[in-house]
Amino acid sequence: MNRLVTATLDEVGNAKAILGGQYIRNHAPEAHTRIIQSKLQTAEALDALKDVDVLFGCVDNDGARLILNELALAFSIPLFDLGVEIEAKEGCVTAACGRLAVVLPEGPCLTCMGQIDVHEARFFLSTPEEQAFQVRRGYVSGMDIKAPAVAPLNGVVANVAALEFAIYLSGQRTTSPFTEYDLLGTSRGNDSQWLTPRRIKAVSGCIECTMRGKGDSASIVERYAREEKVEAL
Ligand SMILES: [Zn+2]
Repeated sequence: MNRLVTATLDEVGNAKAILGGQYIRNHAPEAHTRIIQSKLQTAEALDALKDVDVLFGCVDNDGARLILNELALAFSIPLFDLGVEIEAKEGCVTAACGRLAVVLPEGPCLTCMGQIDVHEARFFLSTPEEQAFQVRRGYVSGMDIKAPAVAPLNGVVANVAALEFAIYLSGQRTTSPFTEYDLLGTSRGNDSQWLTPRRIKAVSGCIECTMRGKGDSASIVERYAREEKVEAL
């Protein structure tokens, strides 16, 4: 309920993907929807995403983010990637931030932007057995912490993305590659909310950028799809 603004108590227990599809059809009956209720790491989901006009990344880990970044680069699909983060210390919120990163076919990728933690991505892309092994060995920590989703913070970033997408479609101005939101303004020395654009440059030698325009020869489905269909949580 705290993650889906339009959800009602009657809908508790239903998958977000199903409810999202219903919401679209209730408001736009003529809309065509195709719902794939699975994790990203299935051939069905990855194949479907190769042919879309625009990707919206609303994911909660850098493993999925890495795959979307590669899909965007290999198939020249614009990617609007959203992220939020809340930090707390001793029961007190110390930072509440979000950001929109836009990967355009000719622009820098999420790795160029420093938005993918390779260790986190590797953890989330490994099998459940490998993940359990890494946690047991102490190679990773903190991955099992369930961060609460805060609807208003998510809403700010979602609306920033919707507006930037409108800018992208209309061509009213150049699409901004990176917009940061900072609720507490702690990093600015000014107690206020901040919405700040950031200049980003492609990093020469970025390994992810080598996938640019490669299409199926980037072997994304082969590298990431698992054989079994994993049911989404
Ligand atoms: Zn890059």
